[in-house]
Amino acid sequence: KYESYPYEHMLKIRKQNLSPALLTCYKKPLLLHQGHMQWLFDYEGRRYLDLFAGIVTVSVGLFLTTHRKVTAAAQKQLGRLWHTSNIYMHPSIQEYVEKLTALLPDPLKVVYLTNSGSEANDLAMFMARLYTRNFDFICFRHRGGYHGASPYTLGLTSIGSYKHGVANGFGCQTTMLPDVFRGLWGGSHCRDSPVQTIRKCSCSQGCCEANDRYIEQFNDTLSTCVPKAIAGFIAEPIQGVNGAVQYPKRFLKEAFRLVRERGGVCVADEVQTGFGRTGSHFWGFQTHDVVPDIVTLAKGIGNGFPMAAVITTSEIANSFAQNLHFNTFGGNPMACVVGSAVLDAIAEDGLQKNSEEVGTYMLLEFAKLRDEFEIIGDVRGKGLMIGIEMVKNKDSRQPLPVEEMSQIWENCKDMGLLIGRGGLYNQTFRLKPPMCITKQDADFAVKVFHAALMRHLQETAI
Ligand code: PMP
Repeated sequence: KYESYPYEHMLKIRKQNLSPALLTCYKKPLLLHQGHMQWLFDYEGRRYLDLFAGIVTVSVGLFLTTHRKVTAAAQKQLGRLWHTSNIYMHPSIQEYVEKLTALLPDPLKVVYLTNSGSEANDLAMFMARLYTRNFDFICFRHRGGYHGASPYTLGLTSIGSYKHGVANGFGCQTTMLPDVFRGLWGGSHCRDSPVQTIRKCSCSQGCCEANDRYIEQFNDTLSTCVPKAIAGFIAEPIQGVNGAVQYPKRFLKEAFRLVRERGGVCVADEVQTGFGRTGSHFWGFQTHDVVPDIVTLAKGIGNGFPMAAVITTSEIANSFAQNLHFNTFGGNPMACVVGSAVLDAIAEDGLQKNSEEVGTYMLLEFAKLRDEFEIIGDVRGKGLMIGIEMVKNKDSRQPLPVEEMSQIWENCKDMGLLIGRGGLYNQTFRLKPPMCITKQDADFAVKVFHAALMRHLQETAI
C-alpha cells in the first residue's frame, strides 16, 4: 500500500497541477506500483493482465524495466553515461543503428533517432516536403488515423477529440478510410486476418470489389491536389488508435503506386505495428508487400523507454543535408542500449512467432464470441494487433453507446483485465498485449470478456 501520499491527494494534484486535458482511464483510476512482463500490479496488490500495454507504454511486450535483458542493459549504461550521442561519438548509437537497419529492406538504411512518435512523424513530413519540394500530404479521414499531437502531425490525425480549434493541418488532405466493416463498401474476404468481417461484398471469392471502390476514392483525393505534386502519403499498416482497422489486401500497394506517380513519397507509420507485432512479418508494411520511402517507429522500439526513429533512403536523407539538423536527446546512449536490448530480446524470446501463434488463437477465440453476442459487430486484426468493434446490433452496425462501452470496460478491469478503447465513437475495444503473452493469458482474457458482457447484458436487462 502507498500510505505516505494519499490517493485522494494524488487525484487533487493531478487535477490541479497537471494538464486538464490528461486522459485518465476508469472511474477510479488505477494507481500502479509495478509491472512484470504482461502483468501490472497496483498499490492494493491487485494483479491485472495488461492487454493495452502495447499502446500505453510498451509494445514489444516484455514489461518495462522487468525484462532481464533490457533491465540489465539500462542499469549498466545508467551508471556510465547518459547524455548525447550527437556531438561526440558513443559506440551505442552505431551498434544500434547497424542492428536496426539490418532488419529493414533496401534502400531503407538511414536512421534519425528522436524521442517520440509525434516528433518522428513531424520529421518524416518535413523530409518528404523538402525532398519532393511539394506540400500536400494525404492521410485517412473517417474515424481516421492517429499520427501525433504536434502542430504538424495534428493535421494527419483525423480524430476530433484531439483538435483544439487552433490552425493545424495546413496541406493535409484526408481521404476515405478503406474500412470493410464500417465503411461504404463491405468485403467479407478482403482482409489479411484469420477473421473476416461478417459484412458481405457483392463480388465472388478471390477479388475484392471494395478495394477498387476505395482506390477510386483515393484517386479522387489525389486529383484534388496540385497535379503531379504530392509530398507524401502516410498510413499505418493496421490502424492503432482507430481500433485495428485493416485495409483490403491490395489497397496500400495500389495507393503507393498512385502516390509515387504523382511525385510523392510513402510513409509507413509503424509506431504500433512494428517489431513483429503483426506476427507474420517484422514490419507491418511487409504484410502489404510494399517498401515505403520513410518508416517511423516509436512506442515498442524502447519497450517503454522514450525513444523513436525515422528511417529513410540515402537519397531522401541527402536532400536534408544542406543545413544542420540536431536533436539533443535523440539516440542518447541510454536509448540506444535499451533499443538494442529490445531487438535482442525479440529475437531470443521468439516474440514475433509468439505474436503470430497467440494472436491467431486469440482472434479465433474472440470470433466465437462475435458469433455468440449480437453486440459484437466485428473482430479483426493480425497477430497481437486486435480490434473488437461493438454495435447496438449487427444489422444496423450502429456503434454501442459510450456508457455501455464504459460499463463493459469497467467490468473487465474489475475482473483483472485491462483493455483499450478507440474509434471515432469510442466503439472499439483495442487489444495490443505485450508480445510475451501466452495462450493461457488469451483464455483468461476471453473468459473475462465473456463474463463482462454477460454482466453488462444482465444489468441492462433489469
Ligand atoms: N503514430 C501512431 C500510430 C501512434 O499510435 C502514436 C501515439 N498514439 C503516435 C504516432 C504518436 O506517438 P507519441 O505519443 O510518442 O508522440
